[in-house]
Amino acid sequence: MFAASRSRRLATRWASAMAALVFAWLFLATEAQAGPCRSGETAVDYTVKSGDSFSKIAHAHGVGSAIVERSNPGVDPRSIRPGQEIKVCVEKESSSSGSSKSKKKRSRVSCGGGNYLVEHEVVRGDTLSKLARDYGSSTSSILRRNSSLDGDASRIRVGQTLKICGDTGGAHEGIGGRSSGKKSRTCGMRTPIWVHEVVPGEIVSSVAARYGVRRRDLYRLNSSLANNPNLIRPGQDIRVCPEIAPRERKRVEHKVRSGESLSTIAKKYGLTTRELLAFQRGKVKASDGLRAGQTLTVYEDGRVVPGFGAIDSDEGTLSGGVLLRSGSYYTTKASSLSWGTSKTIRLIQKAIAAYRQRSKGGPKVHVGDISRKAGGPFPPHRSHQHGRDVDIGYVLTGEHRETQRFVRASSSNFDAMRSYRLIKAFIDTNEVQYVFVDYYVQKMLYDYAKSRGVSQDTLEELFQYPRGKGRSAGIIRHWKGHDDHFHVRFRR
Ligand SMILES: [Zn+2]
Repeated sequence: MFAASRSRRLATRWASAMAALVFAWLFLATEAQAGPCRSGETAVDYTVKSGDSFSKIAHAHGVGSAIVERSNPGVDPRSIRPGQEIKVCVEKESSSSGSSKSKKKRSRVSCGGGNYLVEHEVVRGDTLSKLARDYGSSTSSILRRNSSLDGDASRIRVGQTLKICGDTGGAHEGIGGRSSGKKSRTCGMRTPIWVHEVVPGEIVSSVAARYGVRRRDLYRLNSSLANNPNLIRPGQDIRVCPEIAPRERKRVEHKVRSGESLSTIAKKYGLTTRELLAFQRGKVKASDGLRAGQTLTVYEDGRVVPGFGAIDSDEGTLSGGVLLRSGSYYTTKASSLSWGTSKTIRLIQKAIAAYRQRSKGGPKVHVGDISRKAGGPFPPHRSHQHGRDVDIGYVLTGEHRETQRFVRASSSNFDAMRSYRLIKAFIDTNEVQYVFVDYYVQKMLYDYAKSRGVSQDTLEELFQYPRGKGRSAGIIRHWKGHDDHFHVRFRR
């Protein structure tokens, strides 16, 4: 009895001594590296400005906020002060622009059927059936290719590298991403899957906006991102089923000419000043001003990637159309113009019901044109041909709130709260390809949402504004003529 408890006590003491040793060794091992940055990274000095947070600083340097925290051990993110010096670990610049690529296992090895062999590193939450679905493969095929699994799907382990014959791999490859170029089962056969390569300054919501999808769409396809949305970093791959066709991206060096400013250069490349600054990874500061002859790094968008050109077609016909009849919360136009696919009609009713749940009172929703009974050309519209488009009046206040025909929205008659909630209810069906809203109306909605505490991530994800009306970004985008109604296109 006595002997047993004594040996247990000894064992406990021995274990805590070992733990201390291991701890000391880990501490030394960390210290042996130069500061908190890892190999391949370099520390950039940064002086905290008023209003800064770790996430803001991270964004400006094109890294995740977890990296800013790691760069400053001992600094409490909640108590940084203006003027304080901190460090940010960024990836080392290298002479060739594609250096981050070479580290990756990017196979161009075909494995038949137009598929490519990819090496996937297992992360938390992965299962064989999930991977099979994500890569357009099958569990039996993955089991066959990986002897480490020994024919048993439950042998999957975090950190394990699996060979998967999937529908991404490199038929098209350039800076900015890659794709097999054929429609993917993962994307519901609507588009090929696209693998986006993160550039400095991008965060999950800006990547989502680039392809007109939501953050949750990215999390569904990228389980490691879902676990750590803050750990996004340049060079990382993100899988996406794009609703906005991907564009090739070129990294160019812009040599500053005299008279140029950050904003004129940003404008030249169709960027916001904030994006242009983030590309410089903290090496150029907004307050510094530019010198003639200085070079800036720019990631410039080029042509649409082959294979994605026809994501969206305005033309078509409708078969098996369903008529939307007026309901207690909405009015419709003539019955000859209110035909849609059964999915469209169901989603319109669902979105309006969800909106009414949140916004009691207010006028009836004004539903405008959908399609003709058999679809096809529907002048003066260019679209509204295949039963997946619908026009909806903005919610107004004042004398025109009940007016049936559409009335132009202005700051004096616009019900921003109800209009925002109505558009959001449509987007929240998760079946919306885009919503066309005139740019000045976007600004009213954006300002309202921001004033009500909607997060910057959600604003950046949903709105094209304030990137400029020519920019393809966000689900809510400008198209001229949408000043008295918005236009919803549902996904196929
Ligand atoms: Zn329309």
